[in-house]
Amino acid sequence: REGRRPLIAGNWKMNLTHLEAIGLVQKLAFSLKEPELEAAEVVVLPPFTALRSVQTLVTGDKLEIGYGAQDLSVQDSGAYTGEVSGAMLAALACRYVVVGHSERRTLHGEDDAVVAGKVQAALRHGLVPILCVGEGLEVRRAGEHVGHCTAQLDAALEGLTAEQLTSPGGGTGIVIAYEPVWAIGTGEVATPEDAQEVCGALRPRLAERFGAETAGIVRILYGGSVKAANTAGILAGPDVDGALVGGASLDGDEFAQICRTAA
Ligand code: PEP
Repeated sequence: REGRRPLIAGNWKMNLTHLEAIGLVQKLAFSLKEPELEAAEVVVLPPFTALRSVQTLVTGDKLEIGYGAQDLSVQDSGAYTGEVSGAMLAALACRYVVVGHSERRTLHGEDDAVVAGKVQAALRHGLVPILCVGEGLEVRRAGEHVGHCTAQLDAALEGLTAEQLTSPGGGTGIVIAYEPVWAIGTGEVATPEDAQEVCGALRPRLAERFGAETAGIVRILYGGSVKAANTAGILAGPDVDGALVGGASLDGDEFAQICRTAA
């Protein structure tokens, strides 16, 4: 995958108290060895309430495990009860934030404009958005999945420049996650060919809009019922640079095995 370091990100969703989070991160730190954490980037995405605990843990121990949040506000501060801003996440030294997860889009009515606003809010605060795109079952059955996902990508990145998509050090300023909605939490995993088909279409789309160099740097993940047993197959696609893992990221042994497979 042309020098792109694989990224395995665990989306814990609304699971684990801060105390349980500490236990899981300690377990990961214990079972993953330094060369594995160098070869693959390992990131956990806890609920907001556990971020501070995870920060304290990984900073104190110099663990090479990254962390980030599952959502952020479009706004930076003010009268937005219940919201959490990019500035607050940046103050917790989060590196990543998920934007446009299908559960946010469907359960919380986030449309393309909101998703684009959140991508911009993340970038404004130096956070790397993990931008999720993906089609539902009907779109897939109609054979319109590639067009659907590239349209979501276009809408979310509206008005951005190539510089914003790559960080000053040459690393990634944004991560894309292809997550077919029909495969999320269903146990139904896309085939390696399905994953590669869409990831392999998103990259040229990025190249068209932002240039080949940027498209070659940005990492594109697959997400949807990834487990240790199917990781190698999924990651075999040349445009699949890692995985966004939901359910399986709550099991320390399983998640560590996924990370090891990616390393
Ligand atoms: C997700 O929510 O991002 C996800 C991929 O979930 P799961 O792995 O449980 O399908």
